[in-house]
Amino acid sequence: MHSPKRTARPVARELLFGNLWEYDAAPESSPAFIDASYGLFIGGKWVAPKTRKTFYSISPRNEEKLSEIALAGAADVDAAYQAAAKAFPAWSKLPGSERAKYLFRIARLLQDRAREFAVAETLDGGKPIKESRDFDLPMAAAHFFYHAGWADKLNYVTPGRVLEPLGVVGQVIPWNFPLLMLAWKLAPALATGNTVVIKPAETTSITALKFASILQDAGLPPGVINIVTGAGDTGAAVVNHPLAAKIAFTGSTAVGKSIQRALAGTGKRLTLELGGKAANIVFEDAPIDQAVEGIINGIFFNQGHVCCAGSRLLVQESIANQVLSKLKIRMKSLRTGDPLDKNTDVGAINSRAQLDRIHELVASGVAEGAELYQPVCELPHKGFYFPPTLFSKVSQSHRIARDEIFGPVLSILTFRTPEEAIEKANNTHYGLSAGVWTDKGSLILKMSNELKAGVVWANSYNKFDPSSPFGGYKESGFGREGGKQGLLDYAKLKATF
Ligand code: NAP
Ligand code: MG
Repeated sequence: MHSPKRTARPVARELLFGNLWEYDAAPESSPAFIDASYGLFIGGKWVAPKTRKTFYSISPRNEEKLSEIALAGAADVDAAYQAAAKAFPAWSKLPGSERAKYLFRIARLLQDRAREFAVAETLDGGKPIKESRDFDLPMAAAHFFYHAGWADKLNYVTPGRVLEPLGVVGQVIPWNFPLLMLAWKLAPALATGNTVVIKPAETTSITALKFASILQDAGLPPGVINIVTGAGDTGAAVVNHPLAAKIAFTGSTAVGKSIQRALAGTGKRLTLELGGKAANIVFEDAPIDQAVEGIINGIFFNQGHVCCAGSRLLVQESIANQVLSKLKIRMKSLRTGDPLDKNTDVGAINSRAQLDRIHELVASGVAEGAELYQPVCELPHKGFYFPPTLFSKVSQSHRIARDEIFGPVLSILTFRTPEEAIEKANNTHYGLSAGVWTDKGSLILKMSNELKAGVVWANSYNKFDPSSPFGGYKESGFGREGGKQGLLDYAKLKATF
């Protein structure tokens, strides 16, 4: 499975350390246990799709086929909803302390098999193994643990009112954090007593399908969670099914808007977690070296396939040159290449389609007059890869400053005053996240009050916790995931007085 190819960058290392040390590739060796084919997981069993159709999941790491996956049609989605509706009465009536036991079991089983799942996630989606191992898997387990803790305390979420489940929930998730998005969606739904039909993204279904074996090992009653695989049409069938009491969607703003239109007037509840174009704002009194690390993490984490990526860097003019030169030096030390290599910082782009989109947007940046910088790096010959990229001399009107690139591409703009920073940061359709770097507490408070973003990180970036609600403003969507607020999006409130 491991390719001995190395992404050597002697030039960069020499510049940084004055020597030519090179590391051997250190590939993650745990087996991923990916089945040659997968059916649909409906009513606690594997079933063949009524469509008799399948598709392949490939690895963006080297374009090799990983597994043949069932393509669910409307009749399959209907079977999944029927199974979920059948399971709902018993599941929703279980005492919270009993539901919690299942959630705890799922969390522990995920921890037990964390290495195997991390390798599968990296193979299927292309993210560096150090991220799937150290972020996606621990966070996914943490979401189940956190919500297990709530399951028997639902009557204390809002004083004087109890939370009641909604019914069957339809969930559609994207490809950038496949297992983690599944955990974000399933854990609160289960804790509050709902049953679920979930559809993972076409390019990254494998960890969701492997997760079905965890549900079986946890002894979850059949039909409580049903997993249907396929592409956009399958997602539309999940969204439009009449038995859905609520739809939870994470994905692009365009699809989110079409779902909102489709659901208008149906009485179904809806939460949308959509795109972003976050501003990461660095003031002249910021700790510059820490800020540079935060900027690098903010944009190159998961190849920039992050809805809250800090893709617009706003730097105070007085320190712009200093920050730019430090960023270039730091970018030279990033290792781009085989995501299964433990030394890799920037892995594979999730799909050819996404790679094409990144190329197109980067070309538009050059054509519109921004200045491109990419460190010297040798990319693997097979698979989908894009070097870490930085654009300076960017203006607000450039597409690279407005459109979500969803790739390892940073655009740098400058500002003089906090007011100008706020105006530029808020000058976007999106409003998911932002970062502020400064020594002044009062400035942090002012900025976080005035930035129209669901999450504002201060002197840090991309920090997550299951107890902290996450979600957007404006075209980044509505509803929250995580925390008490996230529970409320999966429940009806009933007064107890
Ligand atoms: P996408 O095309 O909207 O896909 C998201 C999911 O919806 C996938 O499972 C997709 O299936 C499915 N889908 C596609 N068309 C559909 C339709 N008409 N009806 C119902 N479902 C449909 O988005 P993406 O390109 O995969 O994901 C990247 C986007 O997600 C980015 O814009 C990013 O910002 C956003 N995102 C947001 C958050 C957040 O928390 N706010 C988190 C992660 C990602 P297929 O993939 O199988 O086509
Ligand atoms: Mg794949």
